[in-house]
Amino acid sequence: MRIAVIDYEKCNPDKCGHFLCERVCPVNRMGGEAIIIDEENYRPIIQEASCTGCGICVHKCPFNAITIVNLPEELEEGCVHRYGVNAFVLYRLPVVKEGMVVGILGPNGTGKTTAVKILAGQLLPNLCGDNDSWDNVIRAFRGNELQTYFERLKNKEIRPVVKPQYVDLIPKAVKGKVRDLLKRADEIGAFDEVVDELELRNVLDRNIDQLSGGEIQRVAIAAALLRNAHFYFFDEPSSYLDIRQRLKVARIIRKLADSGKAVLTVEHDLAVLDYLSDIVHVVYGKPGAYGIFSQPKGTRNGINEFLRGYLRDENVRFRPYEIRFTKSSDRQSQASEILVEYQRLVKDYGGFRLEAEPGTLYMGEVVSIVGPNGIGKTTFVKMLAGVEKPTEGEVDWELKVSYKPQYIKADYEETVYDLLSKIDASKLLSNFYKTELLNPLSIPDLYDKQVNELSGGELQRVAITAALIRDADLYLLDEPSAYLDVEQRLAVSRAIRHLMEKEGKTALVVEHDVLMIDYISDRIMVFEGEPGKYGKALPPTGMREGMNRFLASVGVTFRRDPDTGRPRANKEGSVKDREQKEMGEYYYV
Ligand code: ADP
Ligand code: ADP
Ligand code: SF4
Ligand code: SF4
Repeated sequence: MRIAVIDYEKCNPDKCGHFLCERVCPVNRMGGEAIIIDEENYRPIIQEASCTGCGICVHKCPFNAITIVNLPEELEEGCVHRYGVNAFVLYRLPVVKEGMVVGILGPNGTGKTTAVKILAGQLLPNLCGDNDSWDNVIRAFRGNELQTYFERLKNKEIRPVVKPQYVDLIPKAVKGKVRDLLKRADEIGAFDEVVDELELRNVLDRNIDQLSGGEIQRVAIAAALLRNAHFYFFDEPSSYLDIRQRLKVARIIRKLADSGKAVLTVEHDLAVLDYLSDIVHVVYGKPGAYGIFSQPKGTRNGINEFLRGYLRDENVRFRPYEIRFTKSSDRQSQASEILVEYQRLVKDYGGFRLEAEPGTLYMGEVVSIVGPNGIGKTTFVKMLAGVEKPTEGEVDWELKVSYKPQYIKADYEETVYDLLSKIDASKLLSNFYKTELLNPLSIPDLYDKQVNELSGGELQRVAITAALIRDADLYLLDEPSAYLDVEQRLAVSRAIRHLMEKEGKTALVVEHDVLMIDYISDRIMVFEGEPGKYGKALPPTGMREGMNRFLASVGVTFRRDPDTGRPRANKEGSVKDREQKEMGEYYYV
């Protein structure tokens, strides 16, 4: 079975020399019609039945607009929805089970939202043909676990509730005070309980548009929890939250499933997904072209297969390399040279005061910065970047610093290529940078786009790239994982590590994603205090000491997965959790 997908946003027949694909296609040249021209819409159409899959058009198209893939025949019956001719195709759906949290992991653009819209009854799947009724969908899923689900959906017996992905858009759509919003949502009489659990009491009288990202996220989760529904979908519940809040939200969502509800979640922080889910589906394919939901897998096994890049039951390799984690706590390169010894720094904003103890940074190391939201991490990084002036102390060094802020501005009216080539054009041609950074982050695909038209995730990838190709001694990256999907997080982690190791440079990275922290860090810097009031930045220390100090304040212990070495949060109160807390070993056992 062959599918051909054309990204019509990229296709530009005037700029490729007038339908280059049609002219080079061997089938067309022999008088056949694998590619025809839709004159009305001025675009090419690939007729899958006539195309031989030679791939010539794919390579010749200057805008990489064409994807041709051969897929196993057995997938054909699993074809759930196709948005149109030569458009995105979705194969198979995740299971939905009462009393269970079903986790979904995979890159963006592979059909997760499409699947959820179908399960929520908002999109009638066309079954890759011209289906126009739910009865046909029920028939197509006969014998499948979803058959009864679709029967109930058709009979309007299922009420879905969705916590959307982009919570930052909520203030545009919803006005008013948090209290009123949550009171209106409360169908189960649990207002006080949910408000306290999600620590929202002190923002109840604020307007929605006065909330920080982490506060809006928790309000959106609260609003979903307060509904009385059958099926709950949480799309990226961890964005903007710190580690303690992420695990807390995970526990609250788990409780919802334990009370008998069906829960589905997409989550790109693998430690959170692991903690949250009973089973997982890996979605694989090619973003924008096609997506396939794997069989349901046990959470541990599913995440491990994902990290390996190989799905055993499906016999599919979807990534050429594996991700492995070092299990030891002493990766730090103590022998290396000192980059800088910085002094004690204080920033006093009036309402908030940060005191950073003096510390040392070495060449060739990656130090991650951890701590709750509102504790001064960004303030510290800004002082090192020279963006904020310390109230006490001085940043009096001669170092070249490259800084990626947490919130990225996109007001450039130029293309991504122009922006990046102005920073360092030679790096865009270097094989090392292509292999380690540009290709894994799919930057070349964005070269022709205008910077001010990029989506959140695209902008983040460009900003990280812009920071990393700049020639500097010290790289400061504030929350590089925000807006990135799980595959991109792994790619960014690898790029940061490899670039610093190879070039002997130093990076400081503010991060909440535990797997990313684990993968990239040689040492760690812990921030403590009272969020919003005062913060104290401890000097960088070894991973064991730093993680113990930090996780003791969060109250969570981690163990290692024996196969991949990845950290896994222990369930609260489990034997391991209690033993590790007694020993004071929160992270390395
Ligand atoms: P995910 O949630 O995994 O990011 P989506 O389900 O939102 O993926 O989208 C998968 C792909 O389907 C997108 O890359 C897009 O190309 C395509 N798509 C989504 N909605 C439409 C639509 N209404 N018409 C055509 N294509 C669409
Ligand atoms: P973190 O990065 O740990 O989330 P931040 O450094 O962003 O924390 O903020 C720490 C505290 O400082 C917050 O309470 C924030 O409101 C406050 N703050 C940040 N910038 C300013 C500023 N320019 N003026 C006044 N207060 C600020
Ligand atoms: Fe030209 Fe590529 Fe569009 Fe074909 S798909 S018309 S080669 S831009
Ligand atoms: Fe023609 Fe080959 Fe492209 Fe198919 S893959 S449309 S046969 S050039």
